[in-house]
Amino acid sequence: MSAKDEIKLEPCPYCGAAVVSIGRSHVRGTRVGAWIHYGVCGNCGARGPMTNPDGFFYLTPEDAAEAWNLRRAAL
Ligand SMILES: [Zn+2]
Repeated sequence: MSAKDEIKLEPCPYCGAAVVSIGRSHVRGTRVGAWIHYGVCGNCGARGPMTNPDGFFYLTPEDAAEAWNLRRAAL
């Protein structure tokens, strides 16, 4: 079992579905680019948050999951 399997994601804050996963995309930065991560609802397609309040992408699944869970709490 990897650490990735241990990430817990809250249900979607918009539709309430529990089919939430962590998606990722590769972005090209000015230097090397990076893989960014974000929560994705498998039901309504909601994504995000893509960046933290400071405007930085989430570079790890753990950070993306934490942000997803916090967003639900903020609504
Ligand atoms: Zn949803």
